[in-house]
Amino acid sequence: MRKKQFKAESKKLLDMMINSIYTHKEIFLRELISNASDAIDKLYFKSLTDDSVSLSRGDFKIEIKLDKDARTITISDNGIGMSESELESNLGTIAKSDSFNFKKENQDADTNEDISVIGQFGVGFYSSFMVADRIEVVSKAFGEGEAHRWTSTGVEGYTIEPCEKDEAGTIITLHIKEDTENDDYSQYLEQYNIDNLVKKYSDYIRYPIVMEMSHQVPDADNEGEYITEVAEETLNSMVPIWRKAKSEIKAEDYNEFYKQKFMDYSDPLAVIHSKTEGQATFDALMYIPENPPYDFYSKEYEKGLQLYSNGVLIMDKCADLLPDYFSFVKGLVDSADLSLNISREMLQHDHQLKIIAKAIDKKLKNELKKMLTNDREKYEKFFDTFGTQLKYGVYANYGMEKDGLKDLLMFKSSSEDKYTTLKEYVGRMADSQKDIYYACGDSASKIALLPQADAVKQKGYEILYFTDDVDEFAIQMLMEYDGKHFVNICKDDLDLSTDAEKESISKKNEDSKDMLEKIKNALEGEVTAVKLSNKLGSHPVGLSTEGYVSLEMEKVLKQMGGANQGVKAQLVLEINPNHSVLDKLSSADDEALAKYAKLLYASARLIAGLDLENPTELSDTIVELM
Ligand code: ADP
Repeated sequence: MRKKQFKAESKKLLDMMINSIYTHKEIFLRELISNASDAIDKLYFKSLTDDSVSLSRGDFKIEIKLDKDARTITISDNGIGMSESELESNLGTIAKSDSFNFKKENQDADTNEDISVIGQFGVGFYSSFMVADRIEVVSKAFGEGEAHRWTSTGVEGYTIEPCEKDEAGTIITLHIKEDTENDDYSQYLEQYNIDNLVKKYSDYIRYPIVMEMSHQVPDADNEGEYITEVAEETLNSMVPIWRKAKSEIKAEDYNEFYKQKFMDYSDPLAVIHSKTEGQATFDALMYIPENPPYDFYSKEYEKGLQLYSNGVLIMDKCADLLPDYFSFVKGLVDSADLSLNISREMLQHDHQLKIIAKAIDKKLKNELKKMLTNDREKYEKFFDTFGTQLKYGVYANYGMEKDGLKDLLMFKSSSEDKYTTLKEYVGRMADSQKDIYYACGDSASKIALLPQADAVKQKGYEILYFTDDVDEFAIQMLMEYDGKHFVNICKDDLDLSTDAEKESISKKNEDSKDMLEKIKNALEGEVTAVKLSNKLGSHPVGLSTEGYVSLEMEKVLKQMGGANQGVKAQLVLEINPNHSVLDKLSSADDEALAKYAKLLYASARLIAGLDLENPTELSDTIVELM
């Protein structure tokens, strides 16, 4: 028997596997099982047309055997098997493996390359070298007389020799490594763990995966005693829930599956189960959770759907399937259009995957629209929990997604203490109303108290209450809804007046020009203008802003830090000419006026929810005036 060398690339990959620090070594089992399943597929397919195949559908199975003493795990299948030359070319070289080809092109990322390559995909058969120091493959190709044994202890090479095997198929024996300080390899010899791994990764393999399981059962002859019963069990359920007809699945089934699979205690808010054929063919089972996933707000949270290729899990969290604004969605996609051994990097460029992602985005939006129309209460609950995500979605990527999301937005408003959509708001707009009004603040109750709110409400116009940091940014990105522009009632250019009113206020401003100028000077650059305004209702003063940046935006940008930290809103101090405060100001001498200016400005800031740069000065001035 001659020892043969692996091809150079295979050797490298093998070396990588043997010395892998990858933490999910358990995927080796998934790889071997899916190879076995593929091999059975091939023979089963042949059986449909070829009478020389004596096996029928129910005869095919994959068998796992554990031997703790010998430290071996054996995976057998009665599939198509491999001839001597197939053993040689399939297991002696890995050059044709997709994931490895990719790696060759991207060899610069040296340090973590094993992790990125093994990643979610594994590298087929060779991944077994992560857990085994010796692998034996006995295989007999269907239709051949002779069987062969392929043996390898790793990089040194492999041997192939003839051996005995009755039926076609493959038996792979892994000699499990000894435990080390960091790695517990013995876990792969425990029936409990193997059972779990099969259920985790290969539950939906279409052929039974059987294993002899031993259980302790009460001894019927001796009370209180137990005996060990050994029986062959099928570990996988074989039919994935998402492949079943919808009519066969009960609401509880969906919910139970969700809770078990995605580790949630509560039932989901919505279940979306779809079967799609067309440009892409895939089944999707998606859930909108009732509560945010436990780690949703942490940096560790990863969005994504599980990705299956024909029932075999190929990726646990495929991020490309979900836009960020749906990052809370849980679920899975199963498509036969995707190859099992595609690498994560290649997947990103996969055309099929892009089509699927687009279809999923649409399905989720439709589901939410349906919920909004048919079950308002549920939608509001959803929006309370995840609405902020949708608003970020409107704002993100320069508003690229805004049109698809705008009808899913809701805001509280001055009309009633409940949510309104933009469509509903526009539906209620008075004939004379041109714009959509909004105001920002920490809470609806605080916004309701803004001086400017009075004037707008007096006109009979509704105000949207923006209480989320992102609200105004999202709306700025939206720019308009149904041809109506959004207007911040705290912006200086808010225009509610008739022509006559405009004329009158501009005359009043003209008359008080000197005094207003003095107030502005006393404020030493804090404000860009001081004006008399008829937008304040019964309140003496208010702050508005000029230009693009509103007060709320300034606050948010300041919190965000970084380059935007210094962005300031241009403030306008507005004074109500119909309030007695104007008389007081008009009759004050310059020294008193300067003090009043500071008092008014300070109170206007407080009303607007801004802090004071010098509270002591304010306090001193108040006391002095007293
Ligand atoms: P991949 O499955 O991505 O092709 P692997 O390294 O896992 O890569 O396997 C290489 C090839 O070896 C397979 O394509 C298949 O032809 C063959 N093979 C592996 N396992 C079996 C098996 N149990 N029965 C028959 N052929 C197999």
